[in-house]
Amino acid sequence: MAGISASSAEGLYDEFVKAGLLITAGPVGAFARGAVFEQVLEAFDALIVRRAASDHVETMTFPPVIDRAIIERTGYMESFPNLCGAIHSFAGSDREARAIPTRIAEGQAWGDLLSPTDVVLTPAACYPFYPTCRGTVPANGREVTLRSWVYRQEPSIEPTRMRAFRMREVVRIGAPDTVLAWRDQWRDRGLAILRSLDLPAELDIAADPFFGRAGKMLAAGQIEQKLKFEVLIPILPALPPTACASFNYHQDKFGTIFGIRLLSGETAHSACLGFGLERTVMALFRTHGADPAHWPATVRALLWP
Ligand code: AMP
Ligand code: ZN
Repeated sequence: MAGISASSAEGLYDEFVKAGLLITAGPVGAFARGAVFEQVLEAFDALIVRRAASDHVETMTFPPVIDRAIIERTGYMESFPNLCGAIHSFAGSDREARAIPTRIAEGQAWGDLLSPTDVVLTPAACYPFYPTCRGTVPANGREVTLRSWVYRQEPSIEPTRMRAFRMREVVRIGAPDTVLAWRDQWRDRGLAILRSLDLPAELDIAADPFFGRAGKMLAAGQIEQKLKFEVLIPILPALPPTACASFNYHQDKFGTIFGIRLLSGETAHSACLGFGLERTVMALFRTHGADPAHWPATVRALLWP
């Protein structure tokens, strides 16, 4: 069996490329995925969707762009200005347009000739969902599953740290007790799913990578209140284990921002979980080798029932 055994970030990337799992496509953190990689990604995603299925789980699909107003209202630019990918386009005259190819031909920067559009690349699969819940939610709240390409401006040679990647999320909106119990139940279920795939997964309390000095305080508060948990799996021996799934309790943050209420009139709470699909797939290749045909029968049976 072709093993994946590199200990450095570059080494791991090269092994993935050599095995045809990834294909170099230019910008760092924006490589392409090969067919076998995608087969495993779809199988893992389908496993999560099967586990999330119930009578009341809704499914939605949003494009990989989000209303700039959502980014503004949620405070994303205070917390993660460095991760945001905003979309700019040309909106000038014929004459002004001619300056762009001229600058390109001269090897000069041309970004200042573009202006911001009303959309931003989606930074997390759940963000576009909350504004759709404005008003009063049904008695049992809402539960939805979403999958999306998301963008984060964190270029890195670590193949596990991408700029564009896919997230499978499940989001719950409802009363505080219900939402917190749901988050805890999914945290345990998520860990169990990853362990059932024979992955050396461990759970830990976590914080989001808030920007700047003020961000350190926010992260400390998040840890103290146990708002975020992550499932970590070793993918690169030289580095700390990689977060492959997160389980977040937002309290009333999105309910307050978007005016989401319970039948009682109180502000709804929310929680979400997100599986990093590429990261989990990389953990599977790392743990079980480059050829899924040779993976343990129990793992194959879960992925391809
Ligand atoms: P977060 O919203 O930061 O909790 O991210 C949700 C999940 O997305 C994480 O648990 C990771 O599995 C995955 N993820 C986060 N950042 C990246 C990245 N730069 N590249 C690939 N996957 C990521
Ligand atoms: Zn989310």
